[in-house]
Amino acid sequence: MHKGYERSIANYQEAVKWIPGGVNSPVRAFKSVQMNPVFIAEGKGSHIWDIDGNEYIDFIGSWGPLIIGHAHPKVVKSVQEAVAKGTSFGAPTKLETQLAQMVVERMPSVDMVRMVNSGTEATMSALRLARAYTGRQKILKFEGSYHGHSDSLLIKAGSGVATLGLPDSPGVLEQTARHTLAVPYNDLESVRLVFEKFGEDIAAVIVEPVAGNMGVVPPQPGFLQGLREITEQYGTVLIFDEVMTGFRVDYYSAQGKYQVTPDLTTMGKVIGGGLPVGAYGGKKELMEQIAPSGPVYQAGTLSGNPIAMTAGIATLEEMTHEAYEELERKGRRLEKGIKENAEQLGIPHHINRVGSMVCLFFTGENVVSYDQAKQSDQKRFAQYFRFMLEQGVLIPPSQFEGMFISLAHTDEDIERTIQANRYALEHLE
Ligand code: PMP
Repeated sequence: MHKGYERSIANYQEAVKWIPGGVNSPVRAFKSVQMNPVFIAEGKGSHIWDIDGNEYIDFIGSWGPLIIGHAHPKVVKSVQEAVAKGTSFGAPTKLETQLAQMVVERMPSVDMVRMVNSGTEATMSALRLARAYTGRQKILKFEGSYHGHSDSLLIKAGSGVATLGLPDSPGVLEQTARHTLAVPYNDLESVRLVFEKFGEDIAAVIVEPVAGNMGVVPPQPGFLQGLREITEQYGTVLIFDEVMTGFRVDYYSAQGKYQVTPDLTTMGKVIGGGLPVGAYGGKKELMEQIAPSGPVYQAGTLSGNPIAMTAGIATLEEMTHEAYEELERKGRRLEKGIKENAEQLGIPHHINRVGSMVCLFFTGENVVSYDQAKQSDQKRFAQYFRFMLEQGVLIPPSQFEGMFISLAHTDEDIERTIQANRYALEHLE
């Protein structure tokens, strides 16, 4: 029995007095599902509890990092031990080398890696490096992809192919936006057209190898390979933004799964095991351009922080080859259950899934681009979200995000989620 949201509502009313919109990252405000956000008291394994005492099976997982679940005993223990030895030194520790080695072992294209504190920092720094290395100004991204909130990446395309970008937010300069080009995801033809026009001035193509910020949209066969060929032809740096997909979709991340080798890779989420970490890495030749071995400046007071490194190491240690097989099995079961429900109830739907990233769209059409993702009935999604929540299942409060399955989700959690999905779909208007 759901206990209501009384305390969450009261806390939210207090929070909005002191924090813009009451939250420290916009999606947490539950705006697109038209309700007050739930405030969380604690999490354990696959479950979290809100401050009204409601228990939920959690598929947000802190938006990706918690691939082994909340408060995993090994993470908790190793972090506690690390904290007792001091929280930050501003001097190197062995932990940084250890995590760097683990990253290099699992990321086929990465020879060297630099730790930062967020995915935003990782993508921003990778762009600076690409621009420095090529001496070029422009970058190409894909509509509906999110790469953090740095100015160059907070851009949407103008209408039509090969038009220059426009700021997505006040405060981003037009001069900056002008250098960011955007084309539809999975559309190699548009990429080619843009390169014909601007190719000699494109420093980097940045792409989510599985798009996870327009729901879940897998790369179409040949898309990533095509990007590799075009960028090679023009001497452009290919950046895979694996902040979300890194260490999640495969032991060797998306680049291993799809067998395409980028020049640079940005990382975050899972490598921090729930603490603030980002990273970027790539070929030695490129990475040695970074200060102090090279001229491209980038730094951080808390970068490589021992607590964050410890949580990352403990998390990756759990992520064995077998762990990814288990995630795949759970993902497959969840996808099948949701699909059967929607089919039996005759609800127009489309499900995209890559491993443990799953997304249900309320459209009968295929979804390979942002424009298609936007065809999903968002009013329906908002209703669906609220019914799921009432049934004790917390999914991301936005159609444009995927559910994240963790190793902590039990078979029973998955079956209960399929039942909740059935109830929610049955009750949609
Ligand atoms: N890149 C991708 C693909 C992301 O999904 C995100 C965050 N969702 C970021 C970059 C930004 O990471 P952060 O929120 O840690 O700054």
